[in-house]
Amino acid sequence: MGNADLKKALRKWIKILGLEDWEISIRWVEVAGGDENAAAAVVRNNEAKTAEIGVSHGAMGDTDLIDACVCHECVHVALGPLSGAIEQVCEDAIDHDRTRKLATSVLESAEESVVCGLERALVDHCG
Ligand SMILES: [Zn+2]
Repeated sequence: MGNADLKKALRKWIKILGLEDWEISIRWVEVAGGDENAAAAVVRNNEAKTAEIGVSHGAMGDTDLIDACVCHECVHVALGPLSGAIEQVCEDAIDHDRTRKLATSVLESAEESVVCGLERALVDHCG
């Protein structure tokens, strides 16, 4: 199966989320983000405004799952500048290694729960 489903979903969510100023690529991957249980993952670069989304092979043919995954990763992209700024503050303001790691992991799980909530709302209303 080709990339048509991925590209179509990506175009849709870029438009809905207003991410036209980002350069976002998308492809099928064996394991998304190094996590066997993840359906998709994204690597983003806030300065360059580039992102690479990987969607796990397991989602192939399931257009609803593909749509939800691409929505989810695009919301991560939309939140990139905010997360990046908070990460930078943590890095600059916290000298203590373990405290910085803890702050980063709290930030990551907070972002994940916000992204999951927005994904559900967006897929329900724009899916
Ligand atoms: Zn996520």
